[in-house]
Amino acid sequence: MSPVDAEPVEETRAFWQDLGLPGLFDVHVHFLPPNIQKRVWEQFDLAGPKIGREWPIRYRGRDEERVEQLRSFGVRRFSALPYAHRPGVATFLNDWARDFAAGVPECLWSATFYPEPDAAAYVRALIDDGVEVFKLHAQVGEFRLDDPLLDDAFGAIEDAGTPVVIHVGSGPVGNEFTGPQHLERLLDRHPRLTAVVAHMGAPEYAEFLELVETHGNTRLDTTMVFTRFFDSEAPYPDELLPRLADLGDRVLFGSDFPTLPYPYLEQLDGLARVSERHPGLGADWLRRVCWHNGVELFGRPD
Ligand SMILES: [Zn+2]
Repeated sequence: MSPVDAEPVEETRAFWQDLGLPGLFDVHVHFLPPNIQKRVWEQFDLAGPKIGREWPIRYRGRDEERVEQLRSFGVRRFSALPYAHRPGVATFLNDWARDFAAGVPECLWSATFYPEPDAAAYVRALIDDGVEVFKLHAQVGEFRLDDPLLDDAFGAIEDAGTPVVIHVGSGPVGNEFTGPQHLERLLDRHPRLTAVVAHMGAPEYAEFLELVETHGNTRLDTTMVFTRFFDSEAPYPDELLPRLADLGDRVLFGSDFPTLPYPYLEQLDGLARVSERHPGLGADWLRRVCWHNGVELFGRPD
C-alpha cells in the first residue's frame, strides 16, 4: 500500500464537511524548486542542529502528487511559501514560485525576500505585479527582522497590505534571530504590517499573542500547534485560550504541508481537540480559522 492509499482522506474531508465549509484554506504550505526541496528534506532527515529532533517527513511525492493530495483533502486554497537561507537566491525562488502559482489555480502567488541591496526593488516589482503573500524565515535565514536592508521592503509591503508570513518564534530550535523581541522591533517601525506569525510564535506563545492583540493587522497561523508532535515539546497554554477565542477573526489555519511527520489530518484533529478544551473555540471559531479568515484576507477562490 502506498502512503497515499494509507491516507485518511475521508476523515480529513469530514472535518470541514461537518463544519459546513466548502473546504480548507491553508495559508502555510511549502512548494520549493525541486533541488532546494531536496536539500531542505535532507536537513530534516538528518534531524540536524536546526531541526533538533526526529522529523520523518510524510509527504515526499513530486509537486504534482502533492498538489493532488491537497486537492483530495479538500484544500481549496494554499500558499507555496518559499524562503531564502542566503543572499542571491530569493529571485530564483520567486521566479519559480511565480510559475508554480500560474500553473496551480488554488495556489497563492508566494514570494520571499532577504536582506540584500536589491530587496526593496524586487519586492516592489512583485507587489506591482500582484504577488499575494510573502514568507520570511528568520531562523533559517539568520537575519534580524529589523535589518536595515529589509526596511524599505517592509515599508512597501506595509503600504500594500500584502500579508507576510514570518517564522520568528524560537521553535523548533531558537537562535539569536528568533524571539518576540525581533517582531516587536519590526512592528515598532511598521505598525500597520500585515504580519502573520507562523506557528503562533511557538514556543513564545504568550508574547506573540500580545503582539498580535496590540497590532490590528497582524495574524497568527496555527501551523503545527495543537498537534501531538508539538504538544510533546511546546504545548499551547490553556490560560491563553480565552484570548485566542477573542482573536478569532485573526487566526489562520496553516499546516506546514508537506514537511509533516504525521498525517495532514493531525492538524485538524488538534484543532478539534483544543476546541473541546475551551467553549470559545467552538464550531464558529473553527469555521473562521479554517476558511473565512483566509478568504477575508486573500479573497475568495474561483
Ligand atoms: Zn513552514
